[in-house]
Amino acid sequence: MRPIEIVGGGLAGLSLGLALRRAGVPVTLHEAGRYPRHRVCGEFISGLVPGVIERLGLAPALAGALPHVDVAWSVGSGPPRHQTLPRPALALSRHVLDTRLANAFTAAGGDLRTGSRQDAAPRAGRVIATGRPRAGDPVWLGLKAHWSHLRLERPLEMHVGDQAYVGLAQVSEGVNVCGLFRRRPLAGRGAALLVDYVRAAGLQPLAERLAAATCVEESFCAVAALEFGRRPAPPAGIHLGDAAATIPPFTGHGMAMAFEGAAVALAPLVAYAEGRIDWDKAERAVASALRRRFRTRLTWAGLLHPFLLQPRRRRWFEYLHRAHLVPFRPLYAALH
Ligand SMILES: Cc1cc2nc3c(=O)[nH]c(=O)nc-3n(C[C@H](O)[C@H](O)[C@H](O)COP(=O)(O)OP(=O)(O)OC[C@H]3O[C@@H](n4cnc5c(N)ncnc54)[C@H](O)[C@@H]3O)c2cc1C
Repeated sequence: MRPIEIVGGGLAGLSLGLALRRAGVPVTLHEAGRYPRHRVCGEFISGLVPGVIERLGLAPALAGALPHVDVAWSVGSGPPRHQTLPRPALALSRHVLDTRLANAFTAAGGDLRTGSRQDAAPRAGRVIATGRPRAGDPVWLGLKAHWSHLRLERPLEMHVGDQAYVGLAQVSEGVNVCGLFRRRPLAGRGAALLVDYVRAAGLQPLAERLAAATCVEESFCAVAALEFGRRPAPPAGIHLGDAAATIPPFTGHGMAMAFEGAAVALAPLVAYAEGRIDWDKAERAVASALRRRFRTRLTWAGLLHPFLLQPRRRRWFEYLHRAHLVPFRPLYAALH
């Protein structure tokens, strides 16, 4: 068998590595960080289909995920509207999920090298799963932390503020609070900074609820300089997960897409490892399968994102929301 090298030990890299090991392929995975660790993430997985869970053998890693169907949507400080998702979203802390996958990969005989940052240049036998690329201009900021003793309106809450949105998800350790914010000159640190951002986005009632509850300070993390959408020109090599395309986080689809991309890449990579096809052919097969699978989702998410974040378009969203006219179910269907 030809070996495969994976650069990036997030969900795409780890789940692919695990599935390749189960197919008997020798795999080395380089991860710049270490496990366990908290990640900036809303921690609910939407749109993950049973076929992908089965093909990648993800069921043990997802054990204990809370299945949520009820969502409360608020725009500004207005009253929430309640929605029911057509299919449950799975809520699970990344601290748990990434660690379980890393342990499963090693137990399956994978060679996991943590603290190993690679150059990520494409080459035969190498899969790039390094997550979202950093944007040159750091306009957006992602912040997240877990809270305890925080009561939720529904197990999932989504709050749309001024150039910001914040998702709350009940996970087994407490409540995950994660937001995407336009950067502002705020000087706080840790969870206090998150609360300041929530307040600056005009989400006063939420800021007060957070300030009155208890934050698990060591779970706080931040990521700056995010950019979304497809890469301007498809990069050479096999890219998976956010490294291939980054869907705006309000969809809750980034994690499902990371897994789905790994599932799509599995057969061509096994064929390459077994010497049945060359690397160029594997690369073309993966690129065209990813394009077919994600094109519609990325287009819809890209169209909707400005209605949540751009002040003028957000007013439209607010108006439709108040009038109960946001077509949640058709939009949900378009994002799948
Ligand atoms: C604010 C916010 C909220 C979100 N909320 C949700 C949500 O609720 N639901 C959802 O499904 N998705 C959500 N997402 C998206 C989701 O987190 C990502 O889509 C998902 O983590 C992508 O997985 P990945 O494996 O591609 O990348 P990542 O999970 O980012 O992993 C990439 C890994 O590569 C490593 N790495 C990077 N460069 C190198 C290098 N040169 N060498 C070695 N290692 C390297 C990094 O350390 C990292 O561990 C959210 C994103 C943001 C920003």
